[in-house]
Amino acid sequence: MKNKSYVLPELKYGYEELAPHMSAEQLKIHHQKHHQAYVTAANAILEKFEAARKDNLALDYKAESKALSFNVGGHVLHSLYWQNMIPAAKGGGKISGRIEEKIKADFGSFERFKAEFTATALSVEGSGWGTLIYYPETGRLMCAQIEKHNQAFAPGMNVLLALDVFEHAYYIDYKNDRAKFIEAFWSIVDWAEVEKRLPEA
Ligand code: MN
Repeated sequence: MKNKSYVLPELKYGYEELAPHMSAEQLKIHHQKHHQAYVTAANAILEKFEAARKDNLALDYKAESKALSFNVGGHVLHSLYWQNMIPAAKGGGKISGRIEEKIKADFGSFERFKAEFTATALSVEGSGWGTLIYYPETGRLMCAQIEKHNQAFAPGMNVLLALDVFEHAYYIDYKNDRAKFIEAFWSIVDWAEVEKRLPEA
């Protein structure tokens, strides 16, 4: 099996299609500049390891592993984020089926889930993510924060839905108003995609 590099994924919608909830300008810079930067940085670290191994040189393993975790985390979470959105005109925000039943069963109601998710995402300190997590061992859904792209994250946290709350995700459209951005997000969530990530009972 040949080793690969990280690749910026294509979006499944056009840059203008998430408007008015997310503008083309906001989405494009986020995808082409910010996400690309994580991909580029992650690949550069892999190349650095390859070069060092070739010449049998030591690296700062603590710093490099931390940087790799940050950049790969950023790449994986952004890939998931683009995937878990869909234009409102194509069904964004509409929930049904297994995922709706599971959310209602675990949180009591969809409104309660929304309130927990919103409060979780809103209170991320600085940069990070608001997420809906499935924990396989308990079979439970929980809302959780990921700080930056890789902190407060534990193995086994199965991310079903991720909302980027770095300021770079919303500053063009909403300035510093994270709450307004989170509110807009509900209109473009692709619940069918979230459901695909939920394991069968
Ligand atoms: Mn981002």
